[in-house]
Amino acid sequence: MSLTVCKFGGSSLADGNNIARAADILLRDGARRYVVVSAPGKRFSADEKITDMLYACWRECEKTGSCAEAFVKIRKRFTSIVAELGMEGFGMDAILDETERAIEREKSADFTASRGEYLNARLIAAKLGWTFVDAAELIFFDEKGQFDEAKSYPLIEQKLKNCEHAVIPGFYGTDACGKVKTFSRGGSDVSGSIIARGVGADLYENWTDVSGFLACDPRIVQKPQKMERISYKELRELSYMGANVLHADAIFPVRKGNIPINIKNTFAPEDPGTLILPSVQYGKSENLVTGIAGKKDFTVIFLEKSMMNAEVGFARKVLSVLEEDGICFEHMPSGIDTLSLVIESKYLAGGVLDRLIEQIRAAVSPDYVRVLENIALVATVGHGMAKSVGTSARLFGALSAEGINIRMIDQGSSEINIIVGIDNDDYEKCVRTIYREFFGEGNKTAESVL
Ligand code: ASP
Repeated sequence: MSLTVCKFGGSSLADGNNIARAADILLRDGARRYVVVSAPGKRFSADEKITDMLYACWRECEKTGSCAEAFVKIRKRFTSIVAELGMEGFGMDAILDETERAIEREKSADFTASRGEYLNARLIAAKLGWTFVDAAELIFFDEKGQFDEAKSYPLIEQKLKNCEHAVIPGFYGTDACGKVKTFSRGGSDVSGSIIARGVGADLYENWTDVSGFLACDPRIVQKPQKMERISYKELRELSYMGANVLHADAIFPVRKGNIPINIKNTFAPEDPGTLILPSVQYGKSENLVTGIAGKKDFTVIFLEKSMMNAEVGFARKVLSVLEEDGICFEHMPSGIDTLSLVIESKYLAGGVLDRLIEQIRAAVSPDYVRVLENIALVATVGHGMAKSVGTSARLFGALSAEGINIRMIDQGSSEINIIVGIDNDDYEKCVRTIYREFFGEGNKTAESVL
């Protein structure tokens, strides 16, 4: 029998009705044996997430030693969820009392923030009649604060082996000192991926409030096509460039275990969603381009020096300057006598840019230095591009027909990604143009949405 690990996000578990819906989904398929849950999220756009309320609790606790005032809202929210589920007899009050005391006792931001997942998992386990297994006993971090694979996976396997069904809180684990530590925000995706790998699941279902990934940002193109299938590599390129449905770190554990992820919609469970597949299972790509993503606000430092190609150590010296200043670069396209550094502008504010250029001049004496600011990067990603002739010609042709000036081009060595640098002001137009070129006119562009 196949084995599925599910993760439900905060909006899928925001109130009692949603939790009942998630429980229904879980019970409908016998392969769904383990579920990782987020804390209740927003019920409407102005609503507050439980995790944000818990951070407020922590701030109160830090100041006064008590979280009594801020905890009232959390208690109220869980009490209403309990009432909506008709679970008044479950004893949530006592669990909430104990949690409030534990927050005051532990005096830790991470412990406090983790209690949303903890409380929700306790409640959902009772609703389903499944075993609650605390993530603190399954997921571990090393002394550097990194996820400790060697310790966690054997424990996950061993602890869940004899457990037919389990509910596990997302977002946290235990650090090297035995204290609760959280992942970064949205980290329940990562917990789900780790559990899926640990139990050797056949599938990781990530249940959220959208029916999968879209080929580009719906705020720029109205109703863009949905991606039915995407490879881990493509997802990595797109999420790195700003497309976010899934926490970026959630990709690695399942990818290593060759476990597919299915992004599913709790509110439209019959929709197939998007299937994220390891390359070995991906097969032939039907689309030339899978998706388009981008980000604004980069700076390009363009260096030119004749005979640069013959100068041993040129790039190393330039990169050493960046390293000494603790600045990371995003891309480094180069020509025979030219080299460009693409850096997020936020790292160069407050005089850092001028200092950096001076240091580069001192290190490598370039003939010419030029700086382009307010640059946006747009990545066009797809496995299909590698094997078909003329994709970049189409891309650049479409941009030139729209009068968009390309300031920089970078085609990564992966051959599944072409990145263009354009002025920030051309960003939306650029995304729309590329979308139209590769996905057709069928979907109206959303000039009106902007
Ligand atoms: N509840 C946490 C957050 O709001 C983690 C998660 O939902 O994945 O970031």
